[in-house]
Amino acid sequence: MPRDYYEVLGVPRDADEATIKKSFRKLARELHPDVNAHDPDAEEKFKEAAEAYEVLSDDSRRQTYDAYGHDGLRSGGFSPNFEGFGSISDLFSAFFGQGGGFDAAFGGTRMRGGAVQGGDVALAVAIDLGQAARGTSVEVTYDATALCETCHGNGAEPGTPIVTCDKCRGAGQIQAVQRTRFGQMVRTALCDKCGGDGRIAESPCHTCSGRGMVADQRHVKVDVPAGIEDGQRLRVTGRGHAGERGGPAGDLYVVVRVTEDERFIRDREDLVTVVDVAAPLAALGTTLEVATLDGPVPVEIKAGTQPGEEIRLGGRGMPPLQRGRTGDLRVIVNVTIPRRLTRQQRDMLEQFAGTLSDDNLRADEGMIAKLRRVLAG
Ligand SMILES: [Zn+2]
Ligand SMILES: [Zn+2]
Repeated sequence: MPRDYYEVLGVPRDADEATIKKSFRKLARELHPDVNAHDPDAEEKFKEAAEAYEVLSDDSRRQTYDAYGHDGLRSGGFSPNFEGFGSISDLFSAFFGQGGGFDAAFGGTRMRGGAVQGGDVALAVAIDLGQAARGTSVEVTYDATALCETCHGNGAEPGTPIVTCDKCRGAGQIQAVQRTRFGQMVRTALCDKCGGDGRIAESPCHTCSGRGMVADQRHVKVDVPAGIEDGQRLRVTGRGHAGERGGPAGDLYVVVRVTEDERFIRDREDLVTVVDVAAPLAALGTTLEVATLDGPVPVEIKAGTQPGEEIRLGGRGMPPLQRGRTGDLRVIVNVTIPRRLTRQQRDMLEQFAGTLSDDNLRADEGMIAKLRRVLAG
């Protein structure tokens, strides 16, 4: 059974066209292969969303669906069929045009006066835990479109005229009939010859072949704030693709991956680590070096320290990303019991075991009392 289309898009049954479109674009953005290469279900989910959108964005289909459900659509001749598309990228081109890239799909916000905001660029960087604690800056390299300097973006060889587009006769739009996939549909599409301008260069600029844009390799330094968590995204305004026809540039999004540090587990602002203490030393008390993000520090293990006891090193955790206090380093004591004893060690231990009294083994706080305190706290 196919899922309910409204449910798929997460919109109420009385949602208007704009809401439906917005919700579909949001879903598509999440499922786009450029940002979601790891999710094997992304393609299926996108197809499901695309099908829902195909129906709900079309008045007559939506009415049929509202009245008769999925079966009504089928008997009415609607058959969603995405088999002809080679990949999810092709599917995206079908919906968003131009190669279906993330930028084609989500740039191109058409603005008043024909200006188009440039597309966003998304990429990921990896830093280690120490860098996440101190904050760092990373340099990223990527390709983005930029205004062509030869023609200043108008696409014409300098000194040559710009004329009315013969394909759309200056309208900037063409009617395109799509026959297969979703039944026959007429779409109003941007004229592919003039890109919606209605005007084209008589002699295209030799640098950009008339596109007005060139690919440009960018190097951008991105400041990563101290306290950042794995998977958080930084936005650098205006460092995406250049806008067209006077539109603003898109943004650069940098997803920060914090690689795991085998010594520490991160618990919000706290770090947790484990230190091994040999049983005799736990009984006698000792001082051990414990790793922190700022290097090893001596930590006192009190006489009689029990397995699992926690020692807090205040302020040795992660800084807060915004407001708040720096976390602690929680050191969990793992009492290790000596193994593979020599004969001499064995004799000594036997002798020692013989001296143990109830008072040696009595805990200051019983295990049940301890549990109660932990559960209550
Ligand atoms: Zn040019
Ligand atoms: Zn045209």
